[in-house]
Amino acid sequence: MTRRRWIAEHWDDATATLTGTQAEHLARVLRAQPGVEADVVAGGHVFHAEVAAVSPQEVRFNLIAELEADPALPVTLVMAVYKFDSMEWAIEKATELGVFAIAPVIARRTEKHLAYAAAKRVERWRRIAKESAQQCRRSDVPVIHDPQPLNAVVAAPSDAVRLVLAEQERSTTLRNAIASALQSEQSELPDFHIAIGPEGGWAPNEEALFDDNGWRAVSLGPRILRAETAAIAALSILASFLE
Ligand code: SAH
Repeated sequence: MTRRRWIAEHWDDATATLTGTQAEHLARVLRAQPGVEADVVAGGHVFHAEVAAVSPQEVRFNLIAELEADPALPVTLVMAVYKFDSMEWAIEKATELGVFAIAPVIARRTEKHLAYAAAKRVERWRRIAKESAQQCRRSDVPVIHDPQPLNAVVAAPSDAVRLVLAEQERSTTLRNAIASALQSEQSELPDFHIAIGPEGGWAPNEEALFDDNGWRAVSLGPRILRAETAAIAALSILASFLE
């Protein structure tokens, strides 16, 4: 049975502590006792640990040995905000697939009420990412950036390979764009920024904005995918090159 994995809120070089609902769950539901072993993530590192002390408010672990961490994919998803339930499902799937960060952006065709609500929703998105990271035993939690206007992200200087998923694009596939980016990069793995549009797609002036800022339009094939499907497909294709 694989050891359960917990993400600690507080740690030092010898112990790690869970607080809040996690501690309560461990103490009350799982009835953890001193000596119980678990994997504990502290500061992005994974440790083999054992429970040292338990109370419904706090569970403290002794850190026994650091374990091999599984690095996230060097991929940031630039996701246009769209209907929250689908977007939250995409955040959970992207976390399982190893995304490093998600940058929610307000696109021209993001529905106005979602654009207004996004700033208040981001804490919930961070909780979804953390719970999903824990469930899939990641050693890190994806960063969920504060929502920003699209042009702030598109025009920001970056040395990442920047690809925009464009449903109208026919000549360049995501796969070929990744392959050529990896061939041209000399030494270490580049970061990838992948932009996914809202349900209404990218507006023409947004496609021009991407183009003017050096983003490469790429296709995921002839069918029009939902944004959440495009996120899963893009991360899976990237993982097939990077893992
Ligand atoms: N309203 C648009 C579809 C938008 S789908 C239309 O009906 O044409 C939401 C986003 O998913 C798109 O903006 C794009 O970023 C991505 N996407 C969907 N299908 C894609 C494909 N075949 N190739 C590349 N990107 C795609």
